[in-house]
Amino acid sequence: MVTANVAALLLQHYVDNFRRLPWRAGPGEPPADPYRVWLSEIMLQQTTVAAVRPRFERFLERWPTIEALAGAPDEAVLNEWAGLGYYARARNLVACAREVVRRGGFPETAAELRTLPGVGAYTSAAIAAIAFGEPAAAVDTNVRRVIARLNGLAEPSPDEIEQHVLHMIPPGRAGDLTQAMMDLGATICRPKAPLCGACPLQSECLSFRSGKPEAFPRPKQKRERPHRYGIAYWTERDGRVWLVRRPAKGMLGGMASLPGLEWTDCLPPGVNAVASVRHVFTHFSLDLLVVPKAEPLGEGWWQPLAELSGAGLPTLYRRACELAVANCEAVSAAA
Ligand code: SF4
Repeated sequence: MVTANVAALLLQHYVDNFRRLPWRAGPGEPPADPYRVWLSEIMLQQTTVAAVRPRFERFLERWPTIEALAGAPDEAVLNEWAGLGYYARARNLVACAREVVRRGGFPETAAELRTLPGVGAYTSAAIAAIAFGEPAAAVDTNVRRVIARLNGLAEPSPDEIEQHVLHMIPPGRAGDLTQAMMDLGATICRPKAPLCGACPLQSECLSFRSGKPEAFPRPKQKRERPHRYGIAYWTERDGRVWLVRRPAKGMLGGMASLPGLEWTDCLPPGVNAVASVRHVFTHFSLDLLVVPKAEPLGEGWWQPLAELSGAGLPTLYRRACELAVANCEAVSAAA
């Protein structure tokens, strides 16, 4: 196990290089508002700080408190979330806000936080450490990588990583250390080509001494991702397109979309598409084919083409609409 010196070096580096972000308190300042910490952690899952920052600020402007968010209509939150992906998170966000308000505030321990909708092991530990100072191990892929490299561990178990993190947290510095580890993993101890020359922990790092820090931890074997196909219908009238809302449960649940058929494993025969979009989800990839249709399908609304960006479309359908508009214009111009 690495020495206590690691925590001191890392914390000093954090103090010297601290990034001021709208959800963070500075080193030594009173802990950040749990609402902000929670919201940022949910937004940051699978997304970068640069992408989240403006979205976070807009969200806070609209719903400055957990009470305000709890009172928001589901659709408004889903629309605001559009483009951030992983839409189950947006649905859980509203459910969680309502549950927190029902309980009279955020619980203060990782164990209790974990009982909230959409709050898993990592997020609960991150909120507990950052907002409430609990010495909890918030382990995401960045933190796992840093710990594995520091300790020269090729295939560490989750328990092993957690024990190393807990061992490192100095009394009263859980929030700072957690954020310092996150920053180091995101900016210096990167998956490929870690910047060991700029790393404050170089003198303590076993994988650096091995000469091959990138080899730690050993990459997990990638599973093959299945491929699926979807048909989306394009019905355009007087400069407007017919949109519907997807069923509340399932992929992109509750989000605005083009109407269409259920996604399948085989390409339907004889499809004459005006646009095709390939999109990669966590568990499968998808080709969405946009097919013209004379009559609108399902319950929905006419969305002006000039206002597509305000429709709350997730990235997949936004790209499909943009391509369909461009291709339809090209066909009309050529006719
Ligand atoms: Fe990561 Fe290199 Fe620092 Fe070790 S020395 S923690 S491998 S950046």
